[in-house]
Amino acid sequence: MVLRSGLIVALLALASPGFPQDRVLVVTTTTDLRSLTEAVGGDRVVAASLVPPNMDAEEYQPKPQDVLRLRQARLLVRVGLDYDLWVDRLLAQAGKPAISRGGPAYVDASFAITVLELRGMSVGPGDGHAHGSGNPHYWLDPKNAEIITANILEALARIDPANAAQYEANRQAFLARLNSKLAEWEIKLSALKNMPIVAYHNSWPYFARRFRLDFIDFIEIKPGVPPSPSHLAGIVRSMRERGTPIDVREPHEPERDVAFVANKAGAKVVTLAASVGALPETDDYISLFEVNIEALISAAARR
Ligand SMILES: [Zn+2]
Repeated sequence: MVLRSGLIVALLALASPGFPQDRVLVVTTTTDLRSLTEAVGGDRVVAASLVPPNMDAEEYQPKPQDVLRLRQARLLVRVGLDYDLWVDRLLAQAGKPAISRGGPAYVDASFAITVLELRGMSVGPGDGHAHGSGNPHYWLDPKNAEIITANILEALARIDPANAAQYEANRQAFLARLNSKLAEWEIKLSALKNMPIVAYHNSWPYFARRFRLDFIDFIEIKPGVPPSPSHLAGIVRSMRERGTPIDVREPHEPERDVAFVANKAGAKVVTLAASVGALPETDDYISLFEVNIEALISAAARR
């Protein structure tokens, strides 16, 4: 409910006397983009995410009030890469060209990101695959925050040029903090080098590439398709063969299948947050990584 109350606070603030009317109300599709928008915007922006924390953005069912939120927004920031396709319909209903595709206040945060697991055009719709044009979980490489925040900065500077220098300074300060954390995280996670990991959903290729982790298999048959008994049996076999100690689950994913394979293969279940707010203490982009990395390190140490 962080999002809901956050948005209400934002709207009340806009309506109340004394609120600087020139603060930029930004709507993002996800909590990760909300946090990165706040990092760039500082106290000049009020940001709210359409998808609440701990809800699967790939399966999000928009609410009627989401259209109203978009009508009030001066800037829209989305993940893109078919991750949040549902926002296109909302944008059509909101009828605000500025925040719609091609508009000056529309940010597709995936612009200039090097996409992993890129898929060709031969893959048609209807195969139950949630990762349409490539793996969309690119914010889970902290280095990609440089590109994401550059995309946000460009749009904020365009719609609020008077504060462009402040936005750039905010972004630089944030990236300096993030980069010093990144060096720490790389050292910590070197303990997990070559350790095979299984996850329920394929949210982790960007994270894995940055930190040299080895996700060998996924419990879903493909993204968005739950496992069959024979698929689960195959996962258990390959986990045993490789001596896989860690089985990763996100809080919104079913516990049963993950617990089953972990139990059969003698692995530990580690719950990780793929988005800000999905676990306690993951209140912003940097703490998201802090919490996940601590969880992985402590599971690896206990094996
Ligand atoms: Zn996904």
